[in-house]
Amino acid sequence: MSTFDYDWSARQVLVTGGAGFIGTHLVNRLRAEGARVRVLDNLSTGRTTWADPNIEFIEDTVTSSSAMAQAFDGCDVAFHLAAMVSVPECEQAPDDCRRVNVDATATAARLAAENNASLVMASSCAIYGPDASLPCVESATPQPSCVYGASKCEGEHAITSMIRNGSLEATCLRFFNVVGSGQRPDVPYAAAIPIFAAAIRADQPLHIFGDGKQTRDFVPVDLAVEAMLRAAATPCNRTLNVATGTQTTLLDVIDIISAACNRPAQCGYKPPRPEDIRHSVGDITLLQKLLGLPEQWGTPAALRNAIEHVVHHAG
Ligand code: NAD
Repeated sequence: MSTFDYDWSARQVLVTGGAGFIGTHLVNRLRAEGARVRVLDNLSTGRTTWADPNIEFIEDTVTSSSAMAQAFDGCDVAFHLAAMVSVPECEQAPDDCRRVNVDATATAARLAAENNASLVMASSCAIYGPDASLPCVESATPQPSCVYGASKCEGEHAITSMIRNGSLEATCLRFFNVVGSGQRPDVPYAAAIPIFAAAIRADQPLHIFGDGKQTRDFVPVDLAVEAMLRAAATPCNRTLNVATGTQTTLLDVIDIISAACNRPAQCGYKPPRPEDIRHSVGDITLLQKLLGLPEQWGTPAALRNAIEHVVHHAG
């Protein structure tokens, strides 16, 4: 039973992108809650690591309307996570990015409405862009500076326009930097954790761009999963940040990794990368008001646990 007293055991649930980093954590939690889970994933970046034979797996792309229709058939709840998530790949292939991140999201919205399923879409803090006032508030005008951020923004629009005309119950969740085991190796900051841990263990210097005092709002993956479950159980028909409201420096993260490895870190500093955002943090007023989060899932101790888990998982 979830914290919102929702009977998942009676639900048929779809997770697009369920073989990815966040999707795997979500699928495991849904199975633990007793839900019947179907995954649609083309394994472009994901891996089928679960051993549970009760997970129905469709290996196909969200850009296929027939695969999407099959996947949504009979679903009560759908989590739409499948996306092109690499910022450089989206810059290089903007048409592919549009097909996957925008057009397929519009298809997901239409099929969720047709199946009377509530929809939760994984959006991103990338929609705020580097010039956003901090903390980033959902009501601010999006200023994405990259194709990926712009595509997430358009995906949100496809959903919110259907919410507005009353044909869909949905929530768009703007994730900040999610941390947990199974993270993609090419995602900045969070994915650096296993790399930093390996360097510390080998007594090698860490390469830090800038002074290490840049900050991010790191979201333990368990908080991201809890937010998705709550949003599905009680659709807000809104767009919400999934953040902790806390700025953590890269040096703070390195301290936690170093303590988890029980060895000192040797930091080597390089010039800052021009494309790097200096500071990022999400406003959590709506998350608190509508989903009662982040609570214990967003404390410094929860972040430390998530980082330690990644370090120990990385061996
Ligand atoms: P991920 O790459 O690990 O997961 C994405 C999954 O989608 C993968 O399993 C991949 O194989 C699948 N996929 C990609 N294209 C597909 C397609 N055309 N058809 C079917 N499946 C496809 O990434 P993640 O970090 O788990 O991200 C999940 C979602 O959360 C994404 O929508 C991402 O934009 C969003 N998000 C993640 C973060 C983060 O910090 N990880 C932050 C903001 C938003």
